[in-house]
Amino acid sequence: MKVANRSTMHYFILWLLTVPTGLIYVFLNYPPVQVNWMYVAVFIVFGFLTTYFPILWNGIPIFLVLWVTVPAFLMYGLFIEMIVMQISILAILLSLPSKLPLIQRFFINSMLFTFLSIIAAIFFDIVGGEIGSIEFWPVIVAVFCYQFIHTAFNNIVLRLYVMYKKVNSPFFSKDLLVDYAMILVVLPLSLTFYYLLQLVGGGSFFLMGIPFFFISLIVRLYNNSEKINSDLRQAGDIGNGLSELLTEKAVIDQFVMEVSDMFDAEYTYLFDHQDGWLELLRSYEHDKFIDIDFALLSAGQGIAGSVLEQNKPIIYSERKEWESISKDYSPNGMQSILCVPISRNQKIEAVLFLASEKKAFFDGYQLKILDLLCSYFTVSVEKARYMQEAVTKNERCALTGLYNYRYLEERLTYEMDRLKNNAIKNLSVVMLDIDHFKQVNDTYGHQSGNDILGMLAKRLEAELPIGGTVGRYGGEEFVYILPGIAKKEAVEFAESLRAEIGEHDFTIVPDLVEDKHPLVVRITSSIGVSSAPIDTDEVLTLLRNADRALYLGAKQAGRNRVAEYVK
Ligand code: GH3
Ligand code: MG
Ligand code: MG
Repeated sequence: MKVANRSTMHYFILWLLTVPTGLIYVFLNYPPVQVNWMYVAVFIVFGFLTTYFPILWNGIPIFLVLWVTVPAFLMYGLFIEMIVMQISILAILLSLPSKLPLIQRFFINSMLFTFLSIIAAIFFDIVGGEIGSIEFWPVIVAVFCYQFIHTAFNNIVLRLYVMYKKVNSPFFSKDLLVDYAMILVVLPLSLTFYYLLQLVGGGSFFLMGIPFFFISLIVRLYNNSEKINSDLRQAGDIGNGLSELLTEKAVIDQFVMEVSDMFDAEYTYLFDHQDGWLELLRSYEHDKFIDIDFALLSAGQGIAGSVLEQNKPIIYSERKEWESISKDYSPNGMQSILCVPISRNQKIEAVLFLASEKKAFFDGYQLKILDLLCSYFTVSVEKARYMQEAVTKNERCALTGLYNYRYLEERLTYEMDRLKNNAIKNLSVVMLDIDHFKQVNDTYGHQSGNDILGMLAKRLEAELPIGGTVGRYGGEEFVYILPGIAKKEAVEFAESLRAEIGEHDFTIVPDLVEDKHPLVVRITSSIGVSSAPIDTDEVLTLLRNADRALYLGAKQAGRNRVAEYVK
């Protein structure tokens, strides 16, 4: 803050030395004569309006104020032109968002335009221009020179400033070509205005002002609807992209990135809504996902909480408006905020929070586009959830939640390919079958058998080595796929697994007896191990070998043991 104050002070001193001094100098040396102050007042109003409601070219404001300042200059000379221009600058400041503090921007622009006014007037004089002259060609030549110099020096100074400051403001990045092309539009306009003033007098303000402002209004409206159309198209494309994604996480991430990009938001947060509480699901700042430790918000708490409570979007233009409401986390640069509820079937599913470092950045019309995007989002999330469920059903066993037979075979084929491509050196299969499980069923009931299968599945998953896969191969048979693990290591793993299972207490509540109370059951298992490439390099043979080792080597040898396949 101190630094900003100091540089504001510098700008102020510089401004004081140049602008008022320049004005006084010009006034004393080239005093305006025969000034109609009513005209000057209308020039000022026109100048102010022209800059306050700029016409946009691809979203960049076009600087048209010369259509007012040039006639003012031709009528009354440099001093009056400078006054009209300086007041019009105030409007530029109010209408363009920028990171610089308002007052600094005023000083900089005020100095720049003082310089431009003077330099353009000097060139006007050099090419023989005369204030108040109505001689056609000399005036045209001089006015063309005036406008060209004005535009050229404007661009030169701004480019130097950009290089020096490395700032990025729309005002400083105008399309050069458009700038010069504008001279050809503004030149006839300002000349006509001037001649009309000379010939008709005050009525010219109506004759010129009405069509000018009417046309700018139409261009503005057209521009707005063009912008809305292109936004709608973009929203449609984003929606299509979202609907193609297969997982909920992918949809959420893509949505957050696209929305942040489309709305130019430096900060984007997505909250999930459950029973009146908001949980921060995803946070994206300056084009990067980040993790923020953010407590749950209840309805009414903070900005997102208020949006949830009122089920209405909120737009803020600057920090002052929301600072007192905001909860804990609010990065320093944050100014404008757009926060909306995301609903599906009249139920709020989430809250989206967008913020910008620029003031007055979000506009009400964006709400409709955002609404559309949010409905694409909720539909895509639902579809992805449904797809995920379908995939899970296809791949998992319903009783234990482990991968099923189909998935295990697919996975084994994949790992075998990796072995053949030398991505891994070994691939082992460990197949496990519970001993005398039929007796367990007979003694405690089928339901208790199921419970034991469920508990065993959790144990097996807990023991899973990194990179491996475990699944339910059949009734009470389980298979581990262990890529990168050689036979010896796999046998050791199987041995520790067997020992672990044998010592584990499985607590069940048998439903066969009247008096239900918990019971501890122990089970043992027999395990067969087979490996590629030493035993085979065929998927089905590898499984068959493990099965054979299990039955011939472990079951037949007395159960509760591990056997490896031998050729
Ligand atoms: P062993 O393997 O030691 O030879 O004896 P076993 O009794 O375990 O025999 P086997 O593996 O041939 O039989 C599997 C038994 O497991 C048959 C069936 O009662 C039981 N079983 C298979 N699937 C399920 C299931 O999903 N739930 C329950 N509760 N039992 C199952
Ligand atoms: Mg068995
Ligand atoms: Mg069996």
